[in-house]
Amino acid sequence: MALKPISHIIPPRNPHFVGDGFRVQNFIPSAYGLDMQRMSPFIMLDYNAPFHFPATETPRGVGVHPHRGFETVTLAYQGAVAHHDSAGNSGVIGPGGVQWMTAASGVLHKEYHEKEFAKQGGMFQMVQLWVNLPAAHKMSPPKYQGFNEQDIPTVSLENEMGHIKVVAGHYQNTQGAASTFTEVHLLTAYLNPEGKATFSFPASNNTCLLVLSGSIEINGHEERALDNHFVLFENQGEHFEITAQEKSQVLILSGAPIEEPIAAQGPFVMNTAEEINQAIRDFHTGKFGKLED
Ligand code: MN
Repeated sequence: MALKPISHIIPPRNPHFVGDGFRVQNFIPSAYGLDMQRMSPFIMLDYNAPFHFPATETPRGVGVHPHRGFETVTLAYQGAVAHHDSAGNSGVIGPGGVQWMTAASGVLHKEYHEKEFAKQGGMFQMVQLWVNLPAAHKMSPPKYQGFNEQDIPTVSLENEMGHIKVVAGHYQNTQGAASTFTEVHLLTAYLNPEGKATFSFPASNNTCLLVLSGSIEINGHEERALDNHFVLFENQGEHFEITAQEKSQVLILSGAPIEEPIAAQGPFVMNTAEEINQAIRDFHTGKFGKLED
C-alpha cells in the first residue's frame, strides 16, 4: 500500500451568507481545483466556521427552496438546525448530529436554526455537503435519514488518541450510520494533542479533508494544515495519516467518482441541460409538492 500524496491545500475562503442563518465559506465547487467533476461525488461543500449568532425570536435560516438530482448532508458541530421538507420529513439535529436528505426526484425544504437555539443565541458551526446521485437514482423517491450524535458509530483510537465518528461508509471494520447510493466515506476525527489516525481508501476515489478546528500534520511532516484549511489528495496511493498538533477536529471525505456528465443550475444537478429545463418546469408547475414557509 502506497502513501496518498497531497495535491494542494486551500486556505480559508471569504465567507458569505446563505439566507440569514448560514455564514459559509464555499470550498467545493468554487475553490481552485475543486470543481464538481474533479470532486465527484462531492459537488458542493459549504463550511460555517464557528460564528456567534445573537439571540432572536425569529429563527434565522433559509426559506423554502427545491432540490433535485442529489443529496444534501448537513453536519452540525455547534448549535442546532431544524429541517422540514415536502416529502413530510422533518428533524432537529444538535452538535454531532447529521441530516442526510436524499432529494433525488425532488423536494422542497427549509432549513432554520432550531427555535430554542435561536432564542438563546450562541456559537454555530456546521458543514453542508451535496453528494451527487448517479443517473439511475436521480429520479428515485426522496428520503430522509436523521442521526443524533449517539446514533453515529464511534471508533476509539488506541492510547486515548481520540475517536472517529463514522457518518457514512466505513472506518476499519465499523460501518457508518447513513446509507448511500454509491461508495461514500464521511468521517469526523476528534483527535487529542499528538493523536494520530490513519485512513485508507481506494486510490481512484476522490479524497479530501477539512480541518474544522486545531491543526494537523499529514503523512508525517510532509505538510501541515491549520484550522479552516481544505486538503485535496492526489488520486494515487491508498493511505494517509494525520497527527494532531493540538486538540483537533477533522472532516474526512472519500468517494468513488461518478463518471457521468454533470449539468448543474442552482439547486438542480442533473446529467443534461434538458433535464435541468425539465426540473425548472416541474418546479414552476408545482411538481415538487407543497411546503409552508
Ligand atoms: Mn437546501
